[in-house]
Amino acid sequence: MDFRLDEEQQALRESVRDFAREVVAPVIGEHYEKHTFPYEIVRQMGKMGLFGLPFAEEHGGMGGDYFALCLVLEELARVDSSVAITLEAAVSLGAMPIYRFGTDEQKARWLPKLLSGEALAGFGLTEPGTGSDAGGTRTRAVLDGDEWVINGSKAFITNSGTDITALVTVTAVTGTKPDGSKELSTIIVPSGTPGFTVAPGYSKVGWNASDTHELTFDDCRVPAANLLGERGRGFAQFLRILDEGRIAIAALAVGLAQGCVDESITYAKERQAFGQPIGNYQAIQFKIADMEMKAHTARLAYYDAAARMLAGEPFKRQAAIAKLHASTVAVDNAREATQIHGGYGFMNEYPVARFWRDSKILEIGEGTSEVQRMIIARDLGM
Ligand SMILES: Cc1cc2nc3c(=O)[nH]c(=O)nc-3n(C[C@H](O)[C@H](O)[C@H](O)COP(=O)(O)OP(=O)(O)OC[C@H]3O[C@@H](n4cnc5c(N)ncnc54)[C@H](O)[C@@H]3O)c2cc1C
Repeated sequence: MDFRLDEEQQALRESVRDFAREVVAPVIGEHYEKHTFPYEIVRQMGKMGLFGLPFAEEHGGMGGDYFALCLVLEELARVDSSVAITLEAAVSLGAMPIYRFGTDEQKARWLPKLLSGEALAGFGLTEPGTGSDAGGTRTRAVLDGDEWVINGSKAFITNSGTDITALVTVTAVTGTKPDGSKELSTIIVPSGTPGFTVAPGYSKVGWNASDTHELTFDDCRVPAANLLGERGRGFAQFLRILDEGRIAIAALAVGLAQGCVDESITYAKERQAFGQPIGNYQAIQFKIADMEMKAHTARLAYYDAAARMLAGEPFKRQAAIAKLHASTVAVDNAREATQIHGGYGFMNEYPVARFWRDSKILEIGEGTSEVQRMIIARDLGM
């Protein structure tokens, strides 16, 4: 067992750390405040090959693996979570379903632009009326000749409304199974298809420089060939995508938790109270020590889940544990980092204020903490 990174992984981590500090940090506060999407940062991440990291070179990818993606997400989120979630959603939710389940034609058409970062894709599972209970999906797709006709709506879909969004994969009820349950399938809907409407962006608590929209489908017609993978396999497909995605979200949460440690150390050494830096007080040192311990143990949890996944072993429980633990730790560390910053921690110009606002969604998105506990308990045979 060896949790140390090899030279290539260390070099990747260092280059993304430098990029986050030198390119993302100086401009992201303004994007966050103005709620603008950081196109220039996305363009540069594309040039660095980050959107193609875990994909085979034959499809335009970098030939890396999912763990490499997680290392990158951790380093980005250490500075900013909007940028990190944009990459996470683009790769693990946007491109991955096409890579895993697409036909040769679908892969040839979409993957080169998605893997270069030139285009983004959204993953449309959640609906206004149902999130955790994906079986409650109401969006319907009916085959009419050689076209699917889609009606329904999706809520909170990341990367679905940028200027470079090329498509959204949409889960829809396509029939009834012999046992009476819903037949769910996944369909590719290209941006701009008539009947596909993207609502204005939400007003969010955090992730303000990321792109999130409600989508509606009103007699939206796409070719029958846009079915992703087998008809009726939609449920199994998104379960697989979300299992993997949990490891990526855990990595992102660890980055935020570690960013809180970084900012707290810097501030505690500078800020004076009662004649000395607050970092001299053991109460502050212990807070920072606990924050470091939490970030470290959460990192080990996602390393373990990723290692199992890459070894082809079952990883569902470990991915849920990593996501549950890392998101809890992110919220804890953001709260303590804000406390260490005192009144300045409540001012938006300080990164910890952004970390605080960005942390809560980690306990909700890609499966709430309750859902993670359900997955763990079920895997334990309960
Ligand atoms: C910024 C943002 C980006 C997002 N991006 C995407 C995206 O790109 N694609 C996408 O498809 N979705 C996306 N989502 C949706 C997200 O995954 C859902 O919000 C999440 O899965 C929870 O679903 P819900 O909001 O419907 O809550 P609900 O499922 O309604 O849950 C409400 C509460 O009830 C609890 N609960 C539900 N069932 C149970 C149970 N059986 N036992 C105990 N407690 C239970 C939940 O844990 C939660 O606390 C995004 C959300 C946000 C906010």
